[in-house]
Amino acid sequence: MKCRMCGFEFDENELENRGCSSCGKHGCNSYHCPNCGFANSPELDQEFEFITKLKNKFRKKSTN
Ligand SMILES: [Zn+2]
Ligand SMILES: [Zn+2]
Repeated sequence: MKCRMCGFEFDENELENRGCSSCGKHGCNSYHCPNCGFANSPELDQEFEFITKLKNKFRKKSTN
């Protein structure tokens, strides 16, 4: 996956404990970037998709 913060590409499956051991809140269900430590949440992707769809809807409405 690609880190949203710094753009560093890494294999999340090769991270021990999803790179979360130094995170403080253990088991936060995010993949921590080995480069910057940012917690990349897999659920956030779906959220982003939802927001993008929502924005598209608004865009269609506002074009009148
Ligand atoms: Zn964590
Ligand atoms: Zn990063």
